[in-house]
Amino acid sequence: MIGFIGLGIMGSRMAENLLNKGYELVIYNRTKEKASSLVEKGATWANSPTNVARQSDVVFSMLSNPVAVEEMALGENGLLRGMSEGKLWVDCSTVDPSFTRKMAKEAALGGIRFMDAPVAGSKLPAEKGELVFLVGGEKCDVDEVRPMLEAMGKEVLYQGEQGKGTSIKLVINLMLAQTMAAFAEAVALGEALGFEQEAVVNTLLNGATTAPFLKGKKDKVLSGDFSADFPLEHMQKDMQLVSQAAYENGLSLPIANVTKEMYAMAKKHGLGQADFSAIAQFTSAKPTEK
Ligand code: NAP
Repeated sequence: MIGFIGLGIMGSRMAENLLNKGYELVIYNRTKEKASSLVEKGATWANSPTNVARQSDVVFSMLSNPVAVEEMALGENGLLRGMSEGKLWVDCSTVDPSFTRKMAKEAALGGIRFMDAPVAGSKLPAEKGELVFLVGGEKCDVDEVRPMLEAMGKEVLYQGEQGKGTSIKLVINLMLAQTMAAFAEAVALGEALGFEQEAVVNTLLNGATTAPFLKGKKDKVLSGDFSADFPLEHMQKDMQLVSQAAYENGLSLPIANVTKEMYAMAKKHGLGQADFSAIAQFTSAKPTEK
């Protein structure tokens, strides 16, 4: 039996792919209603992380941030209370490497194996089973869960020891956050200089300076419909984790920290639940409608 905890935008789709590939699932989510469609499709509901753990050989988690993962794992009805020696916990949440190593240590106290396996790819790749897993941990553990990862993703990229999966994930998201914000500012400048938004967007997307993922954000930017694939508040969290990781490693990242605060301000202005591309709305040259 496989356990799955955290059924948000990503987790619900990942769990569904496991079910579709014939795996037996026991699931938990803080907000129970989000589990109902998976229960209808055959998953078993458990009323706490502890009870997921008691019924599972391998448990996947996909939660917002380190606080959520820590509560889920170490809290009163937490995962590690229910896991017995030799079982495997695979955390797919985007967290920071120090936190990952802390969770690995907590798990090891009970003889529980641990892997970090955050993902590259958003809502649609999660739905299609086309995520890329960035994995840290023991190679033999990775091989054991590879068929499950392949049920949810198209690639499994082994990065090294525990914490290396979350390390490379932060490196990637640093580029993602900065690139999106730089694009948003360029579009705003173009509009302020008298060009139509669509013309500026097309000029940028047809040039050599834009990253491939930005083509996928074009419709959101032009329509102003920023329904979330990747919530902006999670990008702000990732930039906070980048900043923390830089501090811990004696590194200065000036552009990253300005970008982090742009996302923080956008969240403060009510865009936390919007897609992170809504940073383009935040930087827009157009007056905000009241
Ligand atoms: P989401 O839709 O906001 O889901 C977050 C999940 O975390 C929900 O299950 C939520 O439970 C749970 N949660 C939050 N705080 C909690 C707490 N204190 N205790 C217990 N559960 C808690 O987010 P998502 O987009 O699926 O992202 C999940 C993770 O994947 C994040 O780390 C994100 O950075 C990462 N990620 C996201 C994307 C993307 O494109 N969306 C891509 C790559 C990586 P409730 O349902 O009760 O709120």
